[in-house]
Amino acid sequence: MKFAPAKPALTGETLDSLTARLAERGEPAFRAGQILDWVYKKRARAWEDMTNLPKAMRAWLAETFELMPVALVLNRQSADVTDKLLLELGDRALIETVIIRAPQEGVGLDHSRKTICISTQVGCAMGCVFCASGLAGFKRDLSAGEIVAQLLQVCYREDERTPRARAELASFDNIVVMGMGEPLANYDALIRALTIVNAEWGLGFGARRITISTSGLVPKILKLADEPLGFRLAISLHGATDEVREQIMPVNRAYPLAKLIPAVKVFSEKHGRMVTLEFILIEGVNDSLDQARRLRTLALDLHAHVNLIPYNTVEGLPWKRPSLTRQDTFAEVLRQAGISTTLRREKGHDIAAACGQLRLQTERARTAPGEA
Ligand code: SF4
Repeated sequence: MKFAPAKPALTGETLDSLTARLAERGEPAFRAGQILDWVYKKRARAWEDMTNLPKAMRAWLAETFELMPVALVLNRQSADVTDKLLLELGDRALIETVIIRAPQEGVGLDHSRKTICISTQVGCAMGCVFCASGLAGFKRDLSAGEIVAQLLQVCYREDERTPRARAELASFDNIVVMGMGEPLANYDALIRALTIVNAEWGLGFGARRITISTSGLVPKILKLADEPLGFRLAISLHGATDEVREQIMPVNRAYPLAKLIPAVKVFSEKHGRMVTLEFILIEGVNDSLDQARRLRTLALDLHAHVNLIPYNTVEGLPWKRPSLTRQDTFAEVLRQAGISTTLRREKGHDIAAACGQLRLQTERARTAPGEA
């Protein structure tokens, strides 16, 4: 399904595309830089704030572009260290952007590692059976402007928290494209958005600190390997054999491990970067010692980092997380082989932090009898 907004988002314009639009009106090129400076550095929230632009140009901008295509409807902070922004798009669709703080030992929350997790689609078509985002199916792709706007909303929120010292996005350690949707299924908008996020005239966030996570769309992984900007890659593996993977991830039928693993190798050889294998541990599905050993073989072959994520229960789905002992035993098989392994104790249970859950709950409330 396509959504055609009345006006395109300014946050989807690159310096070149905006310069070209302005040139059509006979405006000098430097105006594009000034406008983007207002958006990304000075964080203007209204056209009138752009005081060094002529009034007529501000009027044209207001007629032509949406300054901010997503609205904050809810900012839910958990008792632990995860914050969720629920954002509404022009067609009332909802998406989630999540901020995760991982405290570093001995230095407390103020010096924690901060990661922003962004979405690329409304819903998801990939149909992974354990996932809240896929439950309501696929609605539409996000535009590049909507993807960038999620990060600008995080900036607004940080600015409000530290009003005197404008908090730059650079104070975050990582951006992960791991929220709702399969990022590589919305490839062009994703790359355009990340180009804007990375550019000096945009949000100025280093490509090496941006990780794109895919369920395994092989042709797009190969395309990504050819991109000049060196983003990091994470594979949502979740099964170390075709048999297990196919049971929980339909994408494995089109792109089984025999196709996926060589594509990941091509990517890591071209970029010289360690790829991450994401593995959600689900009780009785993929948490056996046999799966651990097979994952060990794959990780050694790819020189990959492994991120183990104990499953976060989703309302309406039968899956459970394994016991702590079982999680540790699984991790130990990898660690003993010298594989760089993290066992993420999932954050944010109390705010429905499993990807897509807050949105799902809000959508359900909206469509409940008596609701708008
Ligand atoms: S896990 Fe990712 S790819 Fe799979 S359905 Fe959920 S959002 Fe889509």
